[in-house]
Amino acid sequence: MDGGKYDVVVVGGGNAAFSAAMAAREHGAEVLMIERAPEDESGGNSRFTAGIIRFAFNGIDDLLQLIDLNDEEIKNTDFGTYTQDQFFDDMGRITQYRSDPEMTEMLVTKSFETMVWMRKKGIRFVPIYGRQAFKIDGKFKFWGGLALESWGGGPGLIQSWTQSAKRNGVEVLYGTRALSLISDGIRVHGLKVRSGDRLWEIPAKAVVLACGGFEANAEMRTRYLGPGWELAKVRGTRFNTGDGIQMALDIGAMPFGNWSGCHAVGWERNAPEFGDLAVGDQFQKHSYPWGLMVNARGERFVDEGADFRNYTYAKYGRAVLEQPGQFAWQIFDQQVAGQLRDEYRIKQITKVTANTLDELAHKLDDVDPEGFLKTIKEYNAAVQTQIPYNPNVKDGRCTKGLRINKTNWANTIEKPPFEAYATTCGITFTFGGLRIDTSGNVLDTEQRPIPGLYAAGELVGGLFYFNYPGGTGLMAGAVFGKVAGDGAGKAAATVSV
Ligand SMILES: Cc1cc2nc3c(=O)[nH]c(=O)nc-3n(C[C@H](O)[C@H](O)[C@H](O)COP(=O)(O)OP(=O)(O)OC[C@H]3O[C@@H](n4cnc5c(N)ncnc54)[C@H](O)[C@@H]3O)c2cc1C
Repeated sequence: MDGGKYDVVVVGGGNAAFSAAMAAREHGAEVLMIERAPEDESGGNSRFTAGIIRFAFNGIDDLLQLIDLNDEEIKNTDFGTYTQDQFFDDMGRITQYRSDPEMTEMLVTKSFETMVWMRKKGIRFVPIYGRQAFKIDGKFKFWGGLALESWGGGPGLIQSWTQSAKRNGVEVLYGTRALSLISDGIRVHGLKVRSGDRLWEIPAKAVVLACGGFEANAEMRTRYLGPGWELAKVRGTRFNTGDGIQMALDIGAMPFGNWSGCHAVGWERNAPEFGDLAVGDQFQKHSYPWGLMVNARGERFVDEGADFRNYTYAKYGRAVLEQPGQFAWQIFDQQVAGQLRDEYRIKQITKVTANTLDELAHKLDDVDPEGFLKTIKEYNAAVQTQIPYNPNVKDGRCTKGLRINKTNWANTIEKPPFEAYATTCGITFTFGGLRIDTSGNVLDTEQRPIPGLYAAGELVGGLFYFNYPGGTGLMAGAVFGKVAGDGAGKAAATVSV
């Protein structure tokens, strides 16, 4: 390997890194990607995803630029629209209006054009019939602002990017970990890396950091997210230990965003410490809006029906972590059991069933049976059954008079057999990170661009605060990855060594 021949070195092997590498290549740069994981575990969190991606579109004509549909599918599907205004509103509402306005503007306005660019680069998309649409009167109706996923989910996305990178002359070096940036105090000139037992340096005209947040680092989680976070399970890759953030801070980069915030969900209670590629995202348990969640005291602790799951799932992991013993049971009866997502039918699951509520109460490990039965009794009595149930809209079928009411989709828990699923908190990714400008250039603590240093993906702060609209991680990785790759590619063209 000739470490001196690269213009741009991209650190990471996920969606943001590939987007940056491919964009830099368009400027004629010689591009190397270094991926810490061995090839069989490569692809970062991006590979663990379902490939669901959020972008603004104005109707079927826009979607037809991204997917192939036959006449039958067009006739039988109502994709609706997801306008830029809706995307802006979601980002504002979900982040309590903390999201950086300039970054949000870039994310929203560049989302569709970046999708078109990805398709040109060889990424294929398909409609999310399974998870984001319900069939009403013979027609699929999409909801929640999400219409497409990458073909083959996260593994398909990484496979397509890898093939595309090869075709376009981007080199990928697996099993190589970036350790630190080579900087003269002003400009970045490359990286110190480790491959196996070999420590070496890779000079570069520009470096793009796209190597994830610190979700897989128990010490950093506890330090920044707070006590208890060392107890969370990691949903995805074990390789995102905050290296990129740390090495940039070490040369004076500016921290930015919601450092105490993260994306975390309800996750199989007995799942392994880190993600398992064979299971992917199926340890998640996201059908709670149709049922109830109870803690060790048998008490509810959130409004399960506050909004569509796309807008609550990313913050409810934290709520589960805050419960005694860091677990919660999700409870369903037969009125809704048929509606549960596919992830409830995997083998690696902690599930109990019972024919009576009393029997169920005694089968829920670590839960106070009396407290549970009291909760169910009060909840059932509070359901406003005169309001019709409709899972396709926020139906307003609520409870009244409870300490924590359920706002939508409140069904009584009364039709056996009852089903319950044990969950804990699974952390997805962290929200705090580096500060970039509109060219993806990393800023220092004086808010000046650090020449030669770019960043994209999870390790950039400023977009997400407290919560997150589903499908935005991949879109942000692609939009800001492309921006950073463009910036690095252009910068490399002007630097002489
Ligand atoms: C189970 C799960 C399901 C998800 N589902 C979705 C979804 O459907 N839609 C969506 O939009 N988002 C989803 N997300 C979130 C999404 O995965 C991330 O937001 C996004 O993929 C981040 O992309 P990235 O390229 O920044 O990071 P990653 O894809 O995590 O890539 C980071 C890369 O950096 C590498 N790396 C780390 N340290 C170093 C180092 N020192 N040197 C070299 N390489 C290094 C890692 O090995 C990895 O390849 C999901 C996440 C998980 C875990």
